[in-house]
Amino acid sequence: MNIALIAHDDKKDDMIRFTIAYGNILKEHSLFATGTTGKRISEATGLNVHRYQSGPLGGDQEIGAMIAKNNLDLVIFLRDPLTAQPHEPDVTALMRLCDVYSVPLASNMGTAEILIKGLERGDLSWRSAVKE
Ligand code: PGA
Repeated sequence: MNIALIAHDDKKDDMIRFTIAYGNILKEHSLFATGTTGKRISEATGLNVHRYQSGPLGGDQEIGAMIAKNNLDLVIFLRDPLTAQPHEPDVTALMRLCDVYSVPLASNMGTAEILIKGLERGDLSWRSAVKE
């Protein structure tokens, strides 16, 4: 499965903890991330992460393009609901595309935990059928 990992600045430490905790699951999949999030994850976990631009510089749009090609199976986007983002339209567009293509999306840790456990159980295997 292709998995996108994105975290706003205030949520990056949470994302690192998440990827350390679930590294054994994540290492079985292809990981994609915005620039700084991907760098932090690679450094902290040694996981192989394909890095796009930083979010404010277009990284969210690059990940959005993957979704538009139905090329992502899971998006973990730990967004900061308390801080205004200069690229808010990109954030909204990315989340909208997840809904267009029925891509499972976690925008907070509560949902991220459920989805990663579902991924491990094979609950997302229907994505392979959708992509054909
Ligand atoms: P970053 O981008 O991983 O490069 O910080 C994330 C975002 O702000 O959308």
